[in-house]
Parts: sequence; structure tokens; C-alpha cells
Amino acid sequence: MTPITRPEPAPGQLFIDGRWRDAADGGRLDVLDPSTGTIVTTVAAGTAKDVEDAVTAARAALPAWRDTPVRERGRILNRVAALIREHADELTALESLDVGKPVSLCRPVDVDTAADVYEYYAALIQTVGGEHRTVAMPAHAYTRREPVGVVAAITPFNFPLILSSSKLAPALAAGNTVVHKPADDTPLSALFMARLLTEAGVPAGVLNVVTGRGPDAGEPLLRHPGVDKVAFTGSTAVGRHAAATAGAALKPVTMELGGNAANIVFDDADVEKAVGTVIKAFVFNTGQFCMGGPRLLVARPLYDTLLGILAQALPGVPLGDPFDPATVIGPMAGERHLAKVRDHIDRARAEGARIVIGGDRVDRPGFYHQPTVIAGLPDSSPVVQEEIFGPVLTVQAFDTEDEAIALANGTPYGLAAGVQTRDIARAHRVAARLDAGIVWVNDWAMLDPAMPFGGVKASGFGREYGPEGLEPYTRTKSVLISLEA
Ligand code: NAD
Repeated sequence: MTPITRPEPAPGQLFIDGRWRDAADGGRLDVLDPSTGTIVTTVAAGTAKDVEDAVTAARAALPAWRDTPVRERGRILNRVAALIREHADELTALESLDVGKPVSLCRPVDVDTAADVYEYYAALIQTVGGEHRTVAMPAHAYTRREPVGVVAAITPFNFPLILSSSKLAPALAAGNTVVHKPADDTPLSALFMARLLTEAGVPAGVLNVVTGRGPDAGEPLLRHPGVDKVAFTGSTAVGRHAAATAGAALKPVTMELGGNAANIVFDDADVEKAVGTVIKAFVFNTGQFCMGGPRLLVARPLYDTLLGILAQALPGVPLGDPFDPATVIGPMAGERHLAKVRDHIDRARAEGARIVIGGDRVDRPGFYHQPTVIAGLPDSSPVVQEEIFGPVLTVQAFDTEDEAIALANGTPYGLAAGVQTRDIARAHRVAARLDAGIVWVNDWAMLDPAMPFGGVKASGFGREYGPEGLEPYTRTKSVLISLEA
């Protein structure tokens, strides 16, 4: 990999109707480098006035984009993918700077996957169509799959590029137009992508990007009568509010919300491999991964061994500057995320938990936290039940398969789960009983645009990726043509 250096991004503007402009009221938002805590640039802080303009532009662009032949839409999206690959180093640098992601992760995971997602939906949309149906009356009857209209795409801070691509690619492929509101604290790749989409041939107004704070720039999208669908990824708390608000306006919503996945290590697992998977599951993206595995459930005979190996292995996992290609654990994306981790560890200590390793922030500038393993908490502890969203692992022992499944399913969330076992029958049996949108066996974070992910329970509803991820961006119309003479 060519060395990726820290960029110096220019101040950002809103992208509305194919033009760059400041927020109507001139507001700005700071963008921090999480590895130093310093401000690296600012972006426009959009408000309801800007959302109004963006929705107007998206509505005006809708008929022509909807009627653009699907082959042409596919060609444009393939060009987006090609441009992502061409600009991969710049995108990696921006995303790493903005989120504090190690470049070693960002390039293959965030950037390459974003390109894959555009290619996947450019191809998939070519295969999507209505159906001829047999009906009782003399009629030629068929269904049409049509775009929904104007989509509001609201995304969180932790995977800005991937999670915008998982909405924009299927939405645009299906002929919708979009207003995208990226996270307040990590807006840079969304602005860069607006340039690439324009260069690829996406017409003015088809994609609009309104950066800004959630209540100012996100909330008006939930309520705007010109928005036909809301695609939201973020926390369960904000998601509940977003779903209720958009629901009151009868807008269809997809909700990709928080997670708190269990990683079950059975006593028949390949222990060496399982340890690698356990570490990957909770430090991936510095633990800021909705589908991460912050809850380790381990068969009692392996409990002490596994804790011992983890305590030995974790200090060797490289933590440091995201731009050092050797780094695996970077800083947390911001002060508020670090504070949440600190709060959970304080609560664990107050409950009498044993901090097996870690437990403190790292003594250097920026928002770094040590990878931390916590043992001895009851399943009912809020530290086990709530989403911590940092490099923190709680560990509990189990005695039977049924108990492991009950513990795994015993939180309000249901996004992902993992099973470490060499028993193939057990793998299938347990996977079937886990309340989760995706289950990994003997690995973690295997993600592919062909395989849907999404939540159950408080982790939300709807799926991204796969044909399931295209479905919410189309609606079905029935056409019946009388054959009577
Ligand atoms: P968040 O809920 O704070 O913010 C998400 C988005 O909602 C941001 O763009 C924010 O500006 C916007 N927002 C905030 N208030 C709003 C309002 N009143 N109206 C409309 N929009 C508003 O989430 P976050 O802290 O950025 O992201 C972390 C959360 O996202 C975690 O809970 C994580 O599990 C979840 N997440 C889920 C998935 C998934 O696929 N299920 C993926 C990534 C992250």
C-alpha cells in the first residue's frame, strides 16, 4: 500500500442542486482530528432553510432521473465505483482523519467496500422488474417496480462512507433522488463523494448533501412533506424518535440502530483462532462498530484460559496514529464517545467488576482508550446490557448451549452475533436460535454487498445490502389492461 498521509481538508459547503454554497444562516461546524483533538476544518451547519432547498432540488430532479434508462443509471454508478477506486488514497486519508480510523482498516474495509456496493447495485438493478400475473378477468396484468421518490439518508459517525453508500447506491440505482445528512462529527467523505458522483454523471439535484447538527438538519427531513422515505442509521434513542416522527407523517422508514452482540465461544472451539476472532470482534474500528462483539460468552472450562490469553495478547495489538500502517486500534472518534466508554468503566468498577486488562484512557493527546476486558459482572448489569461503543469487552461464563443462547439473546438489541465452534451441527443449530440480523461462525465482520445485514428488536428493522437492501427503495404498482374488445 502506498503511504497515506494526513490531509488538510478545505472548509466544506453544502451541496444543493449541483452547486456548492454556505448554509443559509451562515452556521459552521468544527471537524476534529480525533488523534489530536484539534480542529482540522469546518463545514457548513445546515438548517431547515437549507433542507427546504435540498428537498426542492431533489423533487425537481426526480422525473428525469427516474426516467433515465436503467442501463444508463447503472453505467453512472459503475463510474462512481471506478472513481472511488481511482481516488482511494484520498478517500482513505479523509475518512481516517475524520473518524480516527486506522488506514490499514479504512482502505480495504471502508473504501473498497463502498466501490463494491456501487458496482453491486449497478448490476442488481438491471435484473429488477415487475411480473406478469395470471388473473381471473380478461386482462393483461403486470406489476411495475418504481422508485419511491425523494429519499432522506441520515447516517452515523462511525462508518460514514460505507453507510452512505449502502443507502445512496440502491436509492440512486432504483431511480430515486436523495438528500443526504451525514453525521455532525464526520461529514468529510460525504462531501468528497458529492464531487465524485457529479464527475460520474449524476445530474444536479439527484444527490444533495446537507451537513449539520441532527436536530437542525436531520429533523426537518423527517417532517418534510417532500420526502417520501427515510433511511436512518444511528443510535436506538435517536432512531426511536426518527421512526416516530417519520411514521406520524406516514413515511416508510428503514432503521439501522444500535447493537450489543454476543460472541459465543464453545468448549469445542479452536481456541487460538477464537482468541483472534474475539479481539477482532471488539477492537474492530476501535469498538465503534454497531455489529462489533463487545460481549464474550465463554464455555466455563475455557474461561480462565481465554482470559489469560486475552490479557497477554492485547498489549501487543498496535494502538496509535491512524496514519501509521501498522496501527490496528486508533483513537475514538470524539470526546463524547470517549466519555461514554469512561462512564461504563466507572460503573463497572462501582459494581465491583474485575478489570482484567486496560481500563484507562491512553496518556497522549486525542481520544485514545486502552482495549479493556471486564469480568465478573452479572448479566443484568447495565454495562453488559447497554451499547458501550468502544474497545471494551465484558466476559461471562456459561455451562450449556441453552444458557449461552439465552445470554446472547438477553439484551434489548439484536444486530449481530458470533459462534466459535468446530461442531457443524451446533453452528447451524445455534445460528438459527440467535436473535440477530447476521450471524458469523468462526470469524467476525464478514460483510459483503450480497449479504444483507440489519437488526431485530431495538436494533431496528429493514436490511441493507443484498436484494433486500434495494427493496425499500422501490414500490410496486399493479397495472391491469382490459382485453375486452
Ligand atoms: P446518532 O443517533 O447520534 O446520530 C445518527 C444520525 O442522526 C446523525 O447524522 C445525527 O446528526 C442524526 N440526528 C441526530 N438527532 C436527530 C434528529 N432529531 N432528527 C434527525 N436526525 C438526527 O448516532 P451516532 O452516535 O452518530 O452513531 C452511533 C450509533 O449508530 C450507534 O448506536 C451504532 O450502533 C449505530 N449504528 C448502527 C448501524 C447499523 O447498521 N445498525 C451502523 C452504524 C452505526
